[in-house]
Amino acid sequence: MKLADKRDYYEVLGVDKSADEKTIKKAYRKLARQYHPDVCDEPDAEEKFKEVSEAYAVLSDDEKRQRYDQFGHAGMDGYTAEDFYQNVNFEDIFQGFDIGNIFDLFGFGGGSRSRTRQAGPERGSDIYTEVPITLEEAFNGCEKEIKITRSELCDTCHGSKSKPGVEPKTCPTCGGAGQIKEVSNTFLGQMVNIRPCRECGGSGKIITEPCEECRGRGSKRKSKTIKLEIPEGVDEGNHLRVSGEGNCGESAGLEGDLIVTVHIKRNKRFTRQGEHLYMDQQISFPQAALGDVISIPTIDGNEVEFKIPSGTQSETVFKLRGQGMTSVRHSGRGNLYVTVKVVVPKKLSSKQKSLLKEFAEISGDEIKHSEKGLFGRMKDAMK
Ligand SMILES: [Zn+2]
Ligand SMILES: [Zn+2]
Repeated sequence: MKLADKRDYYEVLGVDKSADEKTIKKAYRKLARQYHPDVCDEPDAEEKFKEVSEAYAVLSDDEKRQRYDQFGHAGMDGYTAEDFYQNVNFEDIFQGFDIGNIFDLFGFGGGSRSRTRQAGPERGSDIYTEVPITLEEAFNGCEKEIKITRSELCDTCHGSKSKPGVEPKTCPTCGGAGQIKEVSNTFLGQMVNIRPCRECGGSGKIITEPCEECRGRGSKRKSKTIKLEIPEGVDEGNHLRVSGEGNCGESAGLEGDLIVTVHIKRNKRFTRQGEHLYMDQQISFPQAALGDVISIPTIDGNEVEFKIPSGTQSETVFKLRGQGMTSVRHSGRGNLYVTVKVVVPKKLSSKQKSLLKEFAEISGDEIKHSEKGLFGRMKDAMK
């Protein structure tokens, strides 16, 4: 992108020139979640994501920000994309949200932060678990403690599998290489086939005296409690990834990840679809006929008033803008849709009855059978 085409970093993040660190981070967090290509369907999501990320990378770094304030985009000349992003803590920005490998997006392999994505034979397996939360917790975001059982490296042998002080011997079959090269002559020429060594299981070493603590496995099963920060706006089935809390890898390798699936418990009042909430609200016939202002509790723990106009029919849906769920994608809230149900009273006092009859009379309705019993009504129906 040419310098002249670049938008002002402050403008990109929608913050003032005087914005403090916290404001800048907050603005970026919202935009990054909104434009992350994994969650945003807009065709230019990736470009926008990169644009906001670059703006944040500069404005969150005192030295870069100073240079930018003084010289504008020209002051950033000479920085590569990697220079920009190396100091951005994406895990913090996304709060454990499973958003794939950020660094792939920028077209470079990534530093230490993307280590969990470098799958290899040494990396431990991921652990999958679930966490149930209430709709209110999903709205506000919450912190949950999750108990897991995972393989951890043995404290005694630190994953070497050997009794401390006893060196494993080099595998005589493969000479320590862990693999066997087989050369065969075919009519096409020489074929080289490489297979892992069966004798040592590919490690190149043979344990002569196994560690007593772990019986030569190198790891032990342990229970652990993990504090999980659940961001506001999560939905049923969302996955949260906690780096490095999975099972340990073979011989002091890397840990896998803990992947937590969010389940949202049923709510008595609201049903949810994405960022919108739906509820039913009973109103009386006089309220529907005369109109009223009613107050209903909302998911944020407050109450909101709304006006029911006179002549409202049962099943009318009212849209209360911005009273729905929070979103992981953007800063706003969804809507609350209230379906009003006009309720007919099951029991009436004699005064209510006479008033209703009077009402019917004035309306020109002829109420024929109000005082007849069941038998009378059936006879009428058969006429
Ligand atoms: Zn051990
Ligand atoms: Zn071997």
